[in-house]
Amino acid sequence: MATKKGKLDWYFKSNLLSRIMIALVAGVVVGIALGYGDQDTVKAFVDNTKVFGDIFIRLLKMIVVPVILFSLISGAASIAPSKLGRVGVKIIAFYMATSALSVSLGLFFANIIQPGNGLGLVGTAGVQGKAAAAPSLATVFLNIIPTNPAESLAKGDVLPIIFFAMLFGLAISFLKDSKDESLVKSAGTLHDMVNAAAETMYKIVNGIMQYAPIGVFFLISIVFAQQGPKALGPLLMVTLTVYLALIALTVIGYGGLLAVFRMGFFKFLKGANEAMITAFVTRSSSGSLPVTMRVCEEKLGIPRSISSFTLPLGATINMNGTAIYLGVCAMFIGYAIGQPLTFAQQMTVVTTATLAAIGTAGVPGAGAIMLLMVMESIGLKVEAGSAVAAGYAMILGIDALLDMGRTCLNVTGDMVCTAIVAKGEDEMDMSRWEGQEAKATA
Ligand code: ASP
Repeated sequence: MATKKGKLDWYFKSNLLSRIMIALVAGVVVGIALGYGDQDTVKAFVDNTKVFGDIFIRLLKMIVVPVILFSLISGAASIAPSKLGRVGVKIIAFYMATSALSVSLGLFFANIIQPGNGLGLVGTAGVQGKAAAAPSLATVFLNIIPTNPAESLAKGDVLPIIFFAMLFGLAISFLKDSKDESLVKSAGTLHDMVNAAAETMYKIVNGIMQYAPIGVFFLISIVFAQQGPKALGPLLMVTLTVYLALIALTVIGYGGLLAVFRMGFFKFLKGANEAMITAFVTRSSSGSLPVTMRVCEEKLGIPRSISSFTLPLGATINMNGTAIYLGVCAMFIGYAIGQPLTFAQQMTVVTTATLAAIGTAGVPGAGAIMLLMVMESIGLKVEAGSAVAAGYAMILGIDALLDMGRTCLNVTGDMVCTAIVAKGEDEMDMSRWEGQEAKATA
């Protein structure tokens, strides 16, 4: 049967990743060019085009709760209850360990490069930092149990949704084991329906990604129009340090971990890149979640029974990139105000930044709020007019640039830990990885 040729085939039939990359580069170029123009041009550009980037973010946000809900119920329903406990313990252990490793790596690079050293910041106009109201650990755990699941769904509170969806799925799984034939049948039907709903959501995600190149172009050009030239100035070092640490964690940390579990680093990147790029441009782990989940299933061959649980959890509590950022920026402020952090202070940063990363919401800029908490823990309060506040304000100025890299790593870390757990459970469909190789060499 001859297929009809559409006018937009050049767009829809071309490789999605190439389209996104072209949009990314074009966005950087256009943004930087605009940034050198006068403020009015930049403002007019931002005002008139912001909507195109916002459409992309909203589309992703729209789909995130349905994706988590249906795929998690469907995942939990297909896993034996005993197994879920084991996977849970393993994934949390990996998430905690990689977060602590990340802060340490950030501190290591900051000690070598010493970003901000000699800047001699003194108190200036200060910063309008919001006081970080860090909830107690007990409250954090208690809040995981929703008092009203519908409210959590409406508000998009990921942890309570995960909790409820897991119970829902587990209950289906128990019912399917029941002695009552009719219960087994209806549980099976419910499971099938949830599976179908999850597939339908992924189909929508596929559609949304067709818009990605357009959204990407505008999101990126705005960031660079507003902050590009500034970032090329005195903050180059801190940006460099953060990115060096991010790259080191990816290559040495993740590459090493994957190698230990006998998975190819480059094959992983080839499968995971769509989610990594989405995270980079949206600056939101939660927003990227639909893409991350689809990529893990379709390209990395990770079963939904594992990924539907570990990925939403990771998008909420596992922020390796943010951990690096917190370490480097704490060091930067220390150097910038002429009070390099002592060893004891750096040890405190490892603890608080690990916890802060867990508490960071997967939305753009959330990590910058957590930086306030980390600074406070080492006695460097961000108070209006203080030198610390000036340093903090400088970081805020380039936050978008740092946020892109750290969010990309946040999401990559979730996928690496998920892949390791899936492989350890012998649940990985490695033929997907070989398939990629076959395609690449074809
Ligand atoms: N934007 C990051 C994320 O969504 C969080 C952060 O600001 O560090 O993963």
